[in-house]
Amino acid sequence: MDKLISLCKRRGFIYQGSEIYGGLNGTWDYGPLGVELKRNIQQAWWKSMVGSHANIVGLDAAILMHPTVWKASGHVDNFSDPMVDCKACKQRFRADKIDPSAIANKKCPNCEGELTDPRQFNLMFKTHMGPVADADDSAVYLRPETAQGIFVNFKNVVDTTRQSVPFGIAQVGKAFRNEITTKNFIFRTAEFEQMEMQYFVKPGTDLAELEAWKTKRLNYYHQNLGILPENLRFHQHGKDELAHYAVDAYDIEYHYPFGWEELEGLHDRSDFDLRQHQEFSGKKLHYQDPITNEKYLPYVIETSAGLTRSVLITLMDAYEEQTLTMNEDGTIGDHRVVMHFHPNIAPIMAGIFPLMKKEGLDTIAQELTQELRDVFNVEYDASGAIGRRYRRMDEIGTPYCITVDHQTKEDNTVTLRFRDSMEQVRISKNDLVHHILKFNREYQRKP
Ligand code: ATP
Repeated sequence: MDKLISLCKRRGFIYQGSEIYGGLNGTWDYGPLGVELKRNIQQAWWKSMVGSHANIVGLDAAILMHPTVWKASGHVDNFSDPMVDCKACKQRFRADKIDPSAIANKKCPNCEGELTDPRQFNLMFKTHMGPVADADDSAVYLRPETAQGIFVNFKNVVDTTRQSVPFGIAQVGKAFRNEITTKNFIFRTAEFEQMEMQYFVKPGTDLAELEAWKTKRLNYYHQNLGILPENLRFHQHGKDELAHYAVDAYDIEYHYPFGWEELEGLHDRSDFDLRQHQEFSGKKLHYQDPITNEKYLPYVIETSAGLTRSVLITLMDAYEEQTLTMNEDGTIGDHRVVMHFHPNIAPIMAGIFPLMKKEGLDTIAQELTQELRDVFNVEYDASGAIGRRYRRMDEIGTPYCITVDHQTKEDNTVTLRFRDSMEQVRISKNDLVHHILKFNREYQRKP
């Protein structure tokens, strides 16, 4: 983890938030490569949801919502975590995330000082709208999840599109939680992004739909993000774990260096949310079947993935330190750090190198860079030995390196080197786009 965090900083993936002021706990900034990786993951998700399903549409709702939304959703009353404080070292812990014996004995896991009794702590950030900050009716919340923006627009989407049940609404956006403990890099942060899809179904079909979405979502992580299958598993919520709105729920868990933890939640939310919003708003939210005229409140199957948490797992899953040759005395010779990003999400698709900066090779390579820029994120690099340029690209997970050499001037071919296998092929400069797209489609991550 420490190596990954330092690579992320060194190569411009992720920086600590407000770093020059000593940082702000639980906030991180995405640098030039991090923002590309995050955007690519978001696009892969959007494509797998909205692009691939005729019955899933997108939405982008406001972060600030009417305060009654959060009363109806149960967040004002229920969205809290139990916390305990250490009277000696002043550290704060989530009571459900530390050893139960520490709570029973009131003993701090950090310094063995005395712990307070657990208290409920609401995770929503409260702020004020308008000029009078202390007026009670001016209070608004930063949304703690994107889902409610979808529920309050359910009727709008039904009335303005030709969708009929079953159909889904997908949304990506920021969410905010005043987390008691923010740790493990970008795993749990105060400000994060979610990619949520609410699938509205006829009551009675919900459990079968939940099963179908479980399969689809697990496949998405293998196929679209290239995550190794052995690092993913399901965890079904026990009765004591179920959220107040859930009939049944599964987490897709990832095997982080700090253990198996949640990556995405899949929930059968019943008609809880539509029913609550109908009651609190006084507006009818029933769906009427266009064929049978039957009226009902749909049930909702929710797939709730963290975008920033997906960035973390793609970084961790991709990271490898490889020994390429051994010295005669048994010590490590040539070695590299390589990120095995799926080409769908790699921040840079190809590095383009002139073999040398002379004899017009640099001009050809620069022109090629310009041409490929229309289609892919590419980077021109002419400094240092070719081997070092390869290593720089391997470390940021660039799937292809293209080298312009003397033969290019004779027959218009270049070498294309594959990041994972380090094999090289010679192909015509004019066919590069076609070949790269084909290799991307065929890409299989080797365990
Ligand atoms: P936990 O119990 O770990 O606090 P949760 O069960 O409340 O998480 P959900 O409300 O189901 O999480 O949120 C859906 C997804 O949003 C999570 O699977 C995770 O990927 C992401 N997520 C939730 N909270 C955070 C956070 N503080 N930082 C980053 N991502 C988060």
